[in-house]
Parts: sequence; C-alpha cells; structure tokens
Amino acid sequence: MSITKSLKFKLTLWNSGLLLLFCSLFLISMNVILTDYMSKEPQFGGNMWRMNPVVREITMEQRELVKEARLNDLNNIRIISLYSLIPLVLLSFGTGYVIADRTLKPLERLRDEMVNKSTENLGEEIEYVDTGDEMSGVIKSFNRMSRRLSKAFNSQREFVENASHELKTPLAVIQANIDNALDDDSISNDELKELLEDSKKSVSFMNSLTEDLLLLSVLDSHIERENVNIKDVLDSVINYSKSIIGERDFKISVSGDVDSTVYGSNVLLQRAFSNIVENSVKYSKGNRMDIEVKKKDKGIEIYFTDDGVGIPKDKMDKIFDRFYRVDKGRARNVGGSGLGLSITKEIINKHDGDICVDKEYGNGARFVVKL
Ligand code: ADP
Repeated sequence: MSITKSLKFKLTLWNSGLLLLFCSLFLISMNVILTDYMSKEPQFGGNMWRMNPVVREITMEQRELVKEARLNDLNNIRIISLYSLIPLVLLSFGTGYVIADRTLKPLERLRDEMVNKSTENLGEEIEYVDTGDEMSGVIKSFNRMSRRLSKAFNSQREFVENASHELKTPLAVIQANIDNALDDDSISNDELKELLEDSKKSVSFMNSLTEDLLLLSVLDSHIERENVNIKDVLDSVINYSKSIIGERDFKISVSGDVDSTVYGSNVLLQRAFSNIVENSVKYSKGNRMDIEVKKKDKGIEIYFTDDGVGIPKDKMDKIFDRFYRVDKGRARNVGGSGLGLSITKEIINKHDGDICVDKEYGNGARFVVKL
C-alpha cells in the first residue's frame, strides 16, 4: 500500500493540518488586532497617563518617538510570529503522527492477525485489553466471528467425514456382492438373487441418505412460508405412515386443537412429523402413537407419544445430533442413517420452534414440538 493512501498518513495530515490552520488563524487575528491597535495615535488622555507626572509633560516629539517604537515592536511581533510557524508545523506533524500511530496500532495488529488466519487457527482468539473503546469492540466482534466460523468449519468437516463413512459401508457391501457374483462360476440363480436383494437394500439406503443430505443443505437456505393447517399436515403424515406400518398392528390417533394454523412450510412440517412417527414404527417396538395438539398463548404444542421401549435418559439430547443412533446395528437394519431427528429439529428450528423429548414421561417416548 502506498504511503499516501495509508490511513496513518491521512490522519497525520488531517490532524496537523487542522492544528496548523487554527494556530495560523490565531496568529493572523492577533496580528490584525495588534496592527489596528499599534497604528492608532497613542492615547495619552487616559487616567494612567494623566496621573503619571512624567507622561503629563510629554512633548509632540516624544509622542512621535513612542509611536515609532510601537510600530517597530509591531514589525518584530510579525517576524517572530512568522518564524514561530516553522516549529509549529514540525510539532503539529510530529504530534499528528504519534496520535495516528497510537490510534491505529490495534488496527494494524488486527490486520496482521487476519492475514495469518486459516482454517487451522480460526478458533484462536486475538488477545487484547478491553478498554471499552471502538477498537476493542471491533476485536471483540472479530473474535466472536472467528469462533462461530471455526465451529461451522469443524461441524462441516465432521459432517463430510460422517457422510463419507455412512456411504462407505453400503458401497463395500455392493462391491463384495459384485465380486462374489463374478468370481464364483458355480453360483446358482437363487444365490445370485440373494446377492442382488442385498445390494438393492444398500442402494436404497444410499438413496435415502443422499436425499437427507440434500434436504439438510436446502434447509440452510430460505424457506417458502404460508398459513398451514395442522390437521392437513397430520392427515398427510398418517397417510404416509401407512406405507411404513404395512401389515403391522400399529395405530395412530390424533386429538386436541388440530384445527390450529401455523405460518410455515407444509411440506417441511410433514417431513418433520413423519420422521417422529416413522421412528416410533421402526424403533419403539410398541403398537400405538397418540398425537395431541394444544393451543398455547404463543403458538401451539404437539405431543407425539408412543407406548414403546422409550429412549434412555442419557441419550435424549443426543438423538437430535446428526448421524447419532441409539442402537447402530438395529438402525442400519431398518435403513436409518441417524439423520432423521436432526432434520426434524432443523425444520422445527427453521419455524422458530423447538423440539425435545419429555424426560418425565416413562411409558414409552414422548416428543414435544413447540411451534
Ligand atoms: P434414523 O434417521 O436413523 O432413523 P433418527 O435421527 O431419526 O435416526 O433417530 C435417532 C435414534 O433415536 C434412532 O437410532 C433410535 O434409536 C432413536 N429413536 C428415535 N425415536 C425413537 C422412539 N420413538 N423410540 C425409541 N427409540 C427412538
């Protein structure tokens, strides 16, 4: 950066320029006043002159001499004030530079730190003394931003690692099945069918996983909202669940203030609630789910209660984490990637709501959704 463009240079120039301007104005006005005063006839009629016996006897000649001496003094004052401008210029530049340098030091440090920032040291904070001024405010905000970015980077990295890990297993299964089918010359039709069925399961797992991943990335962006009737959403959820329930004995009941309306996305809310109901069918080992809607002062609460095995207390918060499964083996058997509830939570949060598991409920699992 060229020196003339630097903030330090501009600040110095402004500071010293203004200081110089004020001093020059002061000197000029002093000179004008003095010139006016000195060029006038000396006033000998005043009290002081009259009382002084020496002055009372002053002659015209002496008067002229006094006048000349005064004009001489005026000239001297003019020369002195002109010369005094030189050290004043130097002094104003010097102090201007020192002030600008001191003011901009933290900014320069911040710039150096920003240049050295990378994804590795994004979480490291810049040390500073909180003086409560604007610069400390900027550094404080910068530290806060770095912390947030670092968290986002880490979770992004973790997410990619987990997603690749999830995709690796079904891919390995498909690879092994293909190898088996190709290497074994004496393979029967039934065995081949079995290998293909197994591969099909892996493919459908990968399908639903990639769909979930896509949905998660969509959830990061803006969602279209409209007035959504909760009854319509729950009706669609029940219809969809029938295909999951199949021949099983599993009943779903809906009660309460179902005719409530929320402002949000019908499709996303359907997805969020379907995940909860689907989980009960897949994991709870129970055979019913009761859905109750309650109107509250601010919005509504929906309770999804099943009569299954429930969720261990220490896992109640973790189940909303991405890729978390209570029983990995069982979840894999039913095609779960551990993204279902994290998607549900994100959808609910996107609607300015919240979801949790009721820790007090003991006869199964109860999810409470606040919208
Ligand atoms: P997935 O996408 O694999 O189905 P989820 O994120 O939806 O996973 O659920 C996380 C875990 O929570 C599941 O692996 C399951 O063990 C547990 N879970 C969720 N709902 C229930 C329930 N109603 N009863 C028992 N366990 C449940």
